[in-house]
Amino acid sequence: MRKMGKTGMRRGYKRVSSSHLNLITLQIQIFCVSEDDFDSEGRVEDQFDQLWDYAAELRASNPRSTVVMATEGDDGQTGRKFEKLYVCFDALRQGFLYGCRPVIGVDGCQLKGPHGGILLTAVSIDPNNNLYPLAYAVVSGETRESWQWFLELLKGDLNVVSDDTYTFISDKQKGLIPAFEPVFPSAPNRFCVRHLHNNMKTAGFRGLAFEKTLWNAARATTLHEFNFRMEEMGHLDPKTVDWLSDKPPEHWSRSHFNCFPKCDMLLNNICETFNSCILEAREKPILTMLEWIREFIMTRLSDNRDRARKKWSGKKICPRIQRIVEKNIDKAADCIPIKSDDWNYEISSYDGSRYIVNLQQHTCTCRKWDLTGIPCNHGMSAICSQSLEPEDFVNPCYSVETFLEVYKHAIFPVNGPQLWTKQVSFHPCLQILEEDQEDHQGQEELSMMNQSTKERRDREDKRNNL
Ligand SMILES: [Zn+2]
Repeated sequence: MRKMGKTGMRRGYKRVSSSHLNLITLQIQIFCVSEDDFDSEGRVEDQFDQLWDYAAELRASNPRSTVVMATEGDDGQTGRKFEKLYVCFDALRQGFLYGCRPVIGVDGCQLKGPHGGILLTAVSIDPNNNLYPLAYAVVSGETRESWQWFLELLKGDLNVVSDDTYTFISDKQKGLIPAFEPVFPSAPNRFCVRHLHNNMKTAGFRGLAFEKTLWNAARATTLHEFNFRMEEMGHLDPKTVDWLSDKPPEHWSRSHFNCFPKCDMLLNNICETFNSCILEAREKPILTMLEWIREFIMTRLSDNRDRARKKWSGKKICPRIQRIVEKNIDKAADCIPIKSDDWNYEISSYDGSRYIVNLQQHTCTCRKWDLTGIPCNHGMSAICSQSLEPEDFVNPCYSVETFLEVYKHAIFPVNGPQLWTKQVSFHPCLQILEEDQEDHQGQEELSMMNQSTKERRDREDKRNNL
């Protein structure tokens, strides 16, 4: 990361905010400048300098949000170097804690702006099976230290009581796995199967047969099917089984996943999708990028809230889940239900398989209902045989009511830089960091930045009284 300059502080960004407002494809009005505006190193550094004011503005406009900035070194001339910045909006935290499933995808992607660096992201999944951004950070590199710093802040934001509450999914990024050990030592970890398949190809096991068998083993929901697929793998080449032996299936096969999160995801799609949504922002200078991401998320929350209120009223479950329900109802036509009592059924299929469904416990021995919280085709067969409402058997985590609760929290608007309170010089950085940590722990706003904000508010109050 570049050093923050002390001179020429406001000139570059002032031009940005006043004359180069663009409209991006998602109809979000953002601070956006032509590349020429930031060819000069000085102007890029202006943005680093303004990060202090920006962090204070975020805290002031979005109370209880966590905005932590870390710096390093001070050569006595150019000031301290920016090291990393973490942002978790209170709106996102509240929505996640209320109704998102306890699954968190984590990823790091390269920033292509003039300053370089890496964007670390934590993304969850909302009641309509869409991505739900949770927190993000700009760091200088993807290392064990930077991941551990990110995970510790995330852990504090999520009020984690037990380490195994959340399931993480990742591509096993550099430094990430060792960082989990001290922060979430017993959290279930899933590794993206696409990433596993790429590693498999690199190890020399190439071809459609290997690929198909690996995916079948990953998609297997029962131990019996998983073992069968592994036998198939052994028939293709016994060395593949050896290669997979140090990759526990708890990390990549549904047959070994815990049913608690109600999520059977095999890919880190939520992070990949988020990274592609913000692709344009990743090429911009740091402050422009951070504002782009904030406005993207703010608009996303608002759009989702408005859409659900206007179009989903009267519906029990979210549209994408409704489509899965309808698909499983169609597939239930191939099943024959045999009733045992009011709740228990044997469900036979034309392929010769037979599973046990319990309508009271919302389970099927194929484990698909248990893993997702959505009745499988066997469950639907039993439900339809009694003319019951399928939607009544879908886990409440997919309800429109839950969706509206998740999205009822808003990221509040943020003033432009012309109204940002200028923060103190770089000298008290360490003090600010310490106060940030206290702020992060939910204590009163004591930091110097917040003091400045308080002073500004006091001045405004006085003016209003006059
Ligand atoms: Zn089933």
